[in-house]
Amino acid sequence: MATDSWEYGWQWRAACRGEDAGLFFAPSQFEPKDERLARERQAKVICSTCAVRIECLEYALRIREPYGVWGGLNELERRLLLKERDRPADRRLRVIGGDG
Ligand code: SF4
Repeated sequence: MATDSWEYGWQWRAACRGEDAGLFFAPSQFEPKDERLARERQAKVICSTCAVRIECLEYALRIREPYGVWGGLNELERRLLLKERDRPADRRLRVIGGDG
């Protein structure tokens, strides 16, 4: 659990408080892809209602959290977002416009 007051504050307002942590983190044993996708989908539905989604995602990105769904993104999605953020601005993917 985070220790500084800012982090303490947002965690208390998390929509996932009291939810099954098993939805947000992979089990220790092998998890088939279809089960992982279903589990993550459920976690992301909860995240989509969360008032502190941005704070949660920024925290996970900042500490390079390697596991679980945080801020509505799984570990692979966060890695891709960090990679994209690390690119120079002129080399970032152009999502809007599409002219390359
Ligand atoms: S965004 Fe998702 S993982 Fe983060 S605090 Fe909210 S419900 Fe929990």
